[in-house]
Parts: sequence; structure tokens; C-alpha cells
Amino acid sequence: MNLTMTEVFEQTCKRFPERNAVCFYGQELNYQTLFGYASRFAAGLSEAGIQKGDRVAIMLPNCPQYVIAYYGVLMAGGIVVQVNPMSVEREIEHYLSDSGAKAMVAYGPLLPRIAGAPSSANLVKKVVVELPPANNTYEDGSVGFEAFLAGASSPAPQVTLSPEDLAVLQYTGGTTGRSKGAMLTHRNLVVNAYQSFMLTGNNGEPERMLTVIPLFHVYAMTVAMNAAIYSGSQLILLPRFDLEEVLQTIKETKPTIFPGVPTMYIALNSHPKAQEYGISAIRLCLSGSAPMPVEAMREFEEKTQGTIMEGYGLSEASPVTHFNPIEKRKPGSIGTPILFTKAKIVDLGDGTTELPPNEVGELVIRGPQVMAGYWNMPEETAETIRDGWLYTGDIGRMDEEGYFYIIDRKKDMILASGYNVYPRDVEEVLYQHPAVQEAVVVGVPDSYRGETVKAFIVVKQGATLSEEEIISFCREKLAAYKVPRLIEFRSELPKTAVGKILRRTLRDEARKEAV
Ligand code: ATP
Repeated sequence: MNLTMTEVFEQTCKRFPERNAVCFYGQELNYQTLFGYASRFAAGLSEAGIQKGDRVAIMLPNCPQYVIAYYGVLMAGGIVVQVNPMSVEREIEHYLSDSGAKAMVAYGPLLPRIAGAPSSANLVKKVVVELPPANNTYEDGSVGFEAFLAGASSPAPQVTLSPEDLAVLQYTGGTTGRSKGAMLTHRNLVVNAYQSFMLTGNNGEPERMLTVIPLFHVYAMTVAMNAAIYSGSQLILLPRFDLEEVLQTIKETKPTIFPGVPTMYIALNSHPKAQEYGISAIRLCLSGSAPMPVEAMREFEEKTQGTIMEGYGLSEASPVTHFNPIEKRKPGSIGTPILFTKAKIVDLGDGTTELPPNEVGELVIRGPQVMAGYWNMPEETAETIRDGWLYTGDIGRMDEEGYFYIIDRKKDMILASGYNVYPRDVEEVLYQHPAVQEAVVVGVPDSYRGETVKAFIVVKQGATLSEEEIISFCREKLAAYKVPRLIEFRSELPKTAVGKILRRTLRDEARKEAV
């Protein structure tokens, strides 16, 4: 494990030159070709003046150019700055100025937004990806991806890297103020690619990983891309979640692993013929990044005969720390700590006392996948990593068998009539109602109770549901203080690029309305 991600990449490419590395709408790239392109990309960057430790931002949807650029940046000794293509000018400015990025690889249609960020003026090189490839010229001096590769004189620069060198700045969602750049080292990436691939129970054959979750997010970066590179597997890329397209791709490409998020499985549940596309042949449907409602998991498995395995992670841990053991999973649990990883539950006060099984507290983690710290934020780093333990900000418990359960995020807890209400508790009940497609619960200010519980609900197509019905359903299953007093029906809920329901946006809207 004393390798850099660049060395792992090179080893795999040389070991399996003929194997397919990336598949994108039928177009395939084998490992040898991928290595050639990434080397040229690295050479182009170093000719543009990029040196070891320089930051290079990538702002692309899932596509082969993403994979080439990512490993190209690492081969040039650079640090990849992951930028969500949905970011607006203000956010782009934060990523560019905070990271001090010197170069950028961006999707063509995003150029006007990038130009609106003042720090883009500091970029010495902008490489533009057009899909499908186009021979465009750019007035601002940007260069097209294909022209950049063609203009680079290989071979790749010889940069000496160590596993402790930084490889990626992974910006957090910023739900708690300024978005922070988690500094992930080469060791973090290699270890977590290994850890997450090991738990798939692979039999030595290459896997086919259908990757529709975005590569700029740490989940896909590690569990799909880096794990595929580590194991010589194939990445089947899709740039967006379109239900029909995903099902069709499953039918045509027969993936063996599908890293997904709960809202994707919920969407698949809503398709009348989802079972006809071969989901049952996918060896592992992974779920992470948000809680997988137990009822939605049961419905998915009953309908499609697929198997969902839930894990847990966060940007600060590269991300994976927990996974349900294949031999014995427990629905509703994130499983046990993975290889080389320790986890415990500590008190919600100063976090120094370890709690016994089944007591609720904060989940803390220790392991070689934990980040080096936050970029340029020593105080936040010291607050988050204490005595080598990563404080996750998630509330959870551990059972007698060492399985962990996430109850909620500390910051999402609702204080109603002096009682703690965990949104997940209420949401699990809402999902049990046969007419509920999606549900999210937030706290809104209430002059009498302090906060009151509000539920946003999307009703399944063709079903009907009234406010009274859902409230009386909850009354049968929840203590009175947890029962939502406010219900709002929506046709859809806002989501992040990875597919997490944007609780924060809904909470802000609900609070504004309540004032
Ligand atoms: P921010 O932390 O700033 O809100 P984010 O959501 O983008 O941003 P990530 O690192 O992507 O940050 O998400 C990590 C969080 O996702 C965890 O701390 C946890 O709250 C949640 N999470 C991940 N997997 C699970 C899971 N299986 N069950 C419940 N929650 C999960």
C-alpha cells in the first residue's frame, strides 16, 4: 500500500493493456490507450508550466475525458480540484480562489460561468471538453481537449511523488458555512480504492461498474473510478441519471456493480417494468451518501430481485469507512468498519467519552483513509480531527454485534417541545406508507414548541394521499412530538448532483414561510 495513485494507474494499464477501461455510449477505451492519453495530458500540463503541487480544477460531467484528465493531472504531480459542474459563479470563484488553481479542465457550455469568476483570470491554461468532441477555437485562449492532447509532446514528465503527497482537494457540500477542501493524499486514495474494492467480494474477474453518480463526487471517484483502476475493471459512464437510459444501459452492458444513492433506487421503484432490464443480474447494487430507507430497499429487492448493500462514508475519509458484510447484512445499518478502520460512538458533549453499545452519540473514525486536513483551514482541521479521530458530525449508535446505524446529522436534529427529533426516524415511517414516493422532514420555528416538524412528500404516480391521512398514519407509529404537524406535497424534491435530497434548501424555504 506504499504506492501513489499514479503508480497504481501505471501498473494496471501496463498489466492489462487490452482490457476495456472506459465505456461511454458504446465507445470503448482500453487501458493502453487510456495510459497513452493520460501521459500526453500530463505532458501538456507540464509544458504549460504545471509543476508538482499545483492545483488543477476539473469541472466535467462523467465522460472519458474526465478519467484522462484526472490521471493526467496526477501524473504531472498536480492536485485535482474537484468542481461540481452545477456550481454557479460564486461557488466557482470560491473553488478557484481558495485552491489557487493554476489550470482548469472544463465542459464547453460552462465557459461563460467560469469567466464570471474573477479568479479564472489566474488560470494559465484552460482545456475545454466538448461532447461530442468539436474542433472549436476559443477567443479567451482556451484550448480544445483533442487539440491539447495532439499538441503535447509525450512522454509524460518524470515527477517524484510520495504516498503522503496531496492528490485531490475534495470540497464538501458547504452545508455548514464555507465549503472546505478536504485534502486527500495519494495514500488516502490508494488505500480507500483497495478497501472499497475488497468488500465487493470480487472473484478475480474484472467488474463492470455502471457509474452514473458523478465522478467529481468522492463516492464515484473512489468506489467506481479509483477502484476500477486499482482492479483493472471497466467503468461504464453515464453523464446524468435518466431512468430510461439507465435501465437501457443495464440491459445492454450487463454491469456487475452499480454504485447508487437512495433516490436512484426510489426512482427505479417507480418504473412499472424495472424488473425487465436485468437488475437481478447486477451482483451488487451499492447504496451510500444518504440513508437508504428500509422500506424502499425492501420494495426494490422484491420488485427487481436486485441486492442493495449499504455503506457509509464522507469526503473527509476518501470516503468509505463502513459497509455491510456481504455474508450478513442488516438493513437500516451502514454495516461494520471496513478493513484497517476503527470506529466508535462518543458522547455528544465534548466527545471524549466512548459510549457502550446502543447508546446514541457522535460517530468518530480512525483509519488510513482519513484526510490530511482541510486546505488552508487549520482551526477547522483541529476541530474535526482530534487525537487522530475524525469527528463525522453524524449521530449514530452501534449494536452489540458491532454494526453501526446512522440516526442523523447533528445539524439536522430538530428540537420540538424540548425533545430531540431525528428526521430519519420520521422519514422511515413516512416511507412505509404505500402512497409515499419520497419524503423529507425538517424543523421549522414554532413560537409554542420551539420547533415543529414539517414533512415534504412526493406522492407515487396514480396514488392519492391527504394531509389528514398521513398524519393519522404517523400517529399510529410515532410519539406525538415526532408527528409532522405541517405537510407539504410537492411534485418533486430538490436534489444535489449526486442525488441527495437537498434538505437544507427545503428547510430554508420552510423557515422563510414560517416567519
Ligand atoms: P456536507 O457534509 O458539507 O453537507 P456533502 O453531503 O456533500 O456535504 P459528503 O462528504 O458527500 O458531504 O457526505 C457525507 C455525509 O453523507 C455523511 O457525513 C453522512 O451524513 C451522509 N451519509 C453518507 N452515507 C450515509 C448512509 N449510508 N446513511 C446515512 N447517511 C449517510
